[in-house]
Amino acid sequence: RREPEFSVVVDESGVPLANGERVEHANFDHAASTPCLSTVAEALSEALPFYASVHRGAGHHSRVTTEAYERARRSVGRFLGVRTEPEDAVVFVRGTTDALNLLARSLPEGCTVIVPESEHHASLLPWEHPASRAARVQRLPLAGSPEAAVEAVRTALAEAPEGPVLLCVTAASNVTGEIWPVRELVRAAHDEGARVVVDAAQYVPHLPFSLEETGADYVALSAHKLYAPFGSGVLAGRADWLAEAAPYLSGGGASAHVDTHDVVWNDLPARHEAGSPNVLGAIALAAACETFTPEVLERRHVSETVLLERLRAGIAEIDGVEELTLWGPEHPRVGIVSFTVEGIPADLVAAALAAEHGIGVRDGLFCAHPLTRHLLPEGHTQAVRASLGVGTTGEHVDRLVGALAELAEHGPRWEYVEIDGRLEA
Ligand code: PMP
Repeated sequence: RREPEFSVVVDESGVPLANGERVEHANFDHAASTPCLSTVAEALSEALPFYASVHRGAGHHSRVTTEAYERARRSVGRFLGVRTEPEDAVVFVRGTTDALNLLARSLPEGCTVIVPESEHHASLLPWEHPASRAARVQRLPLAGSPEAAVEAVRTALAEAPEGPVLLCVTAASNVTGEIWPVRELVRAAHDEGARVVVDAAQYVPHLPFSLEETGADYVALSAHKLYAPFGSGVLAGRADWLAEAAPYLSGGGASAHVDTHDVVWNDLPARHEAGSPNVLGAIALAAACETFTPEVLERRHVSETVLLERLRAGIAEIDGVEELTLWGPEHPRVGIVSFTVEGIPADLVAAALAAEHGIGVRDGLFCAHPLTRHLLPEGHTQAVRASLGVGTTGEHVDRLVGALAELAEHGPRWEYVEIDGRLEA
């Protein structure tokens, strides 16, 4: 049964199989992007007839849109548990990658950044970009347990040179779904006067996250992983570094006064939102944030965990299918599982699941190359990832387990050829 507040606008459309049948599409690629919630679509269709440029227009539509945009900012802030004393900034950006690049360019003089090598590239690489203001970046090797991860962070913090330090960590891995010990890491960082930014892209669609409760200093997320469209996201957290930094982009909106010799930049959040902002994206993201109250997320997590465990138990029964895990099968996780199938490359597994069973998964290294490569069993160069979300049913899970059992035992039913870089039946 699907509850109304969770209903998605586009999800299980019928897909043709290689044998000519049509089946309901079983979407197991929520960790990449999620379909639009009906509450999000409603908020968007309300805004569409009115939207106009924000902050500058005196006309009715511009004022309504400005109000909606700022209301969206407050909603997203509430969703992320922003603090009021001192007030956290909520900056609209294009997504998590954008948010972390903005923070990398807003670091104070002489800042050391510590980042585990297990991170998604969006949180691993921005600190090393030429435009990053990090004075040094220390990558931590993969840790064999959550305790070892905290210990490695403590050691790195103790050894860090004088000056500001930022620790970047993920809240939930996009490869294994494993949940990181954010509170312990924040405590370790704060003990040494360091700050923490949390990449919550994969966590917030599954569990509530609060800056206030975790004590984290910054958090980043993407709307398209939270059942709202692409192109919108947020960086929320401590205002001081962001307020003192040069604008992320130069242009209108970020500038308060410009003459022949001088530019005065705006205060936050406009300072980092140059150009006409993505108002519809912000409204859509806010509608998703309002739908996923902490109670709704907690409830969904319980039911999703039942499905996830059914999937993991099914996979564990199949000879030759191996789940990837950094911290062991018992470690808490969100609805993501990556695995390999012995003797069949990941792209062929994914192609056969799609063409023969109507199941959409992802194959590859999931933009977390160091972590995924480390976890792959010998003989494999890539993995398959199945991620659960709104609309995932027990039938989908059983179909995936059945399909994998068949594949592992008999191989694909069809022959596949590479066309434009993809395998087609
Ligand atoms: N962090 C994590 C953990 C992710 O899974 C992703 C998306 N795969 C990102 C960051 C990047 O998000 P976006 O592509 O929306 O910027």
